[in-house]
Amino acid sequence: MITDTDVTVDSPLIFEHSRPGRRGVLPPRAPEVDLAALLGAENLRSEPPKLPEVDELTLVRHYTNLSRRQIGIDVAFYPLGSCTMKYNPKVHEAAVQLFADLHPYQDPSTAQGALQVMYELQRDLGEITGMDAVTLQPAAGAHGELTGIMIIRAYHASRGEGEQRRVVLVPDSAHGSNPATASMAGYQVKEIPSGPDGEVNLEALRAELGPHVAAIMLTNPNTLGLFEERILEIARLTHQAGALLYYDGANLNAIMGMARPGDMGFDVVHLNLHKTFTVPHGGGGPGSGPVGVKARLAPFLPVPVVVKQGETYALDYDRPQSIGQVRSFFGNFGALLRAYAYIKMLGAEGIKKSAALAVLNANYLKELLKAEGFRVPYDRICMHEFVAQPPEGIKTLDVAKGLLEMGYHPPTVYFPLIVKEALMVEPTETESKETLEQFARAMGEVIRKDKEWLEHAPYSTPVRRLDEVQANRKPKLRWGG
Ligand SMILES: *Cc1c(COP(=O)(O)O)cnc(C)c1O
Repeated sequence: MITDTDVTVDSPLIFEHSRPGRRGVLPPRAPEVDLAALLGAENLRSEPPKLPEVDELTLVRHYTNLSRRQIGIDVAFYPLGSCTMKYNPKVHEAAVQLFADLHPYQDPSTAQGALQVMYELQRDLGEITGMDAVTLQPAAGAHGELTGIMIIRAYHASRGEGEQRRVVLVPDSAHGSNPATASMAGYQVKEIPSGPDGEVNLEALRAELGPHVAAIMLTNPNTLGLFEERILEIARLTHQAGALLYYDGANLNAIMGMARPGDMGFDVVHLNLHKTFTVPHGGGGPGSGPVGVKARLAPFLPVPVVVKQGETYALDYDRPQSIGQVRSFFGNFGALLRAYAYIKMLGAEGIKKSAALAVLNANYLKELLKAEGFRVPYDRICMHEFVAQPPEGIKTLDVAKGLLEMGYHPPTVYFPLIVKEALMVEPTETESKETLEQFARAMGEVIRKDKEWLEHAPYSTPVRRLDEVQANRKPKLRWGG
């Protein structure tokens, strides 16, 4: 018998289960305040919001069923290159709970523990990257980039070179957010081609450098998963031209504890705590993109900076050259806590070991995929990731769709742009040898399927092949009723 309280397991549409007056939770009674006086009568709702009215169990099933329509790192291997989908240790959530009652408007004297965490995290990230000062404010990688480039702009302006330095150089293998950031900050973007070895072409760089260049944005290892071996020469040339060197450190997985951007000559770096430092991501946030700088750029950091005065932690707003505040309050504090817990649990040795294992896993998987018939265009020792291609005649898109049928999230596809039919694979250090071997076998199985199967996969996922143009241009983001 079907009753009102029955919920079909397949239906995620919670609105269909709404019944007037049904409740899962009783919110606390609103305090007796005159909201119209407080907020202005014109800002008050005239009708209640059309929210579904359901019992608690229906709500739990709604979200649980939605979660089962996803492939996430807690469900299956997720080798999404450039995104570092590593395991997010659950113990970090306990650290977050400890601070659950804190409010950002609290007086700093009553939030010393939180400020200590931020102070130590600034210091630890500075140590890991070889930078002298760090801000924890930016809310994501691209936001960190924008903050970093604004700091660079303020630096050149302070030396009277703001007008003259109008160009930011970006290699052709760069993550799309790099040129986007530079142009958002008002710079002209100039692309530097890669050489046949997959590294920055030094001749091309030399030709572009000059008194009109503000910075070059690089990532090392680059997006082909290769270490730029001529980085010291690149740094020397850049500084000789009066420009600064920006490090996209979204993925520090291959080098943390091993090598430091600061020692390579970089002046500014951003990190993605939601990649390298195990803060969960994939659903659009909340992330965290701290920025580290060399001492000469420290005066331009956003305010406030967490400082230690004697035994007391404080927020320093008195920084006249600061670019200002780039986010409300102090950044995504929950993300900062998880990264702090991760760093403290691993310690210096653990961080180093995790980088070594990330590189070992990537190289092992690269060899396994070659044995299965995949091509590797830049076939040398890779860092934390590598770029492969399916055999001639098979489309990368079909491989990705076929993998979904096998229960795996596909690697990053069609990126970097300089490799045709690219599959960018990043296994991370948290996967076992057996998982890598199973995945390689699944990849091999996919490319041996017949054409008909490949072109129509996946078969058993909640949605199959979407009209990608429509999905992009006219996404349906709400339930239509
Ligand atoms: C992910 C990534 C970014 C952007 O980070 P978001 O947090 O998504 O804004 C920038 N650069 C590289 C190399 C990345 O992998």
